[in-house]
Amino acid sequence: MKIRKNDTVLVITGKDKGKKGKVRFAYPKDERVLVEGINLIKRHTRARGQVRQAGIIEREATIHVTNVMLLCNKCNHPTRIGFRHLQDGRKVRICRSCGEVID
Ligand SMILES: [Zn+2]
Repeated sequence: MKIRKNDTVLVITGKDKGKKGKVRFAYPKDERVLVEGINLIKRHTRARGQVRQAGIIEREATIHVTNVMLLCNKCNHPTRIGFRHLQDGRKVRICRSCGEVID
């Protein structure tokens, strides 16, 4: 998957359009990511002994990778990602805007 954990991404669709956040988890199988502070949903929780308080908590829900763009940490632009094979056989991601290797 093109987006990975700890990437900084820009949300391009939905209610959080235009917001930036850091990817906390990536789920390559589902092509979804969990981004810090993005797509908050309210969950009602019930008191469970003394461990939890009853009430409403907010937490992030995953969003589809096609709804975000990677923010390049070199040129600071939201960018499409390309791939390049290095001489040692490794495949790395590159920024399509500035051509920098991202990882
Ligand atoms: Zn760049």
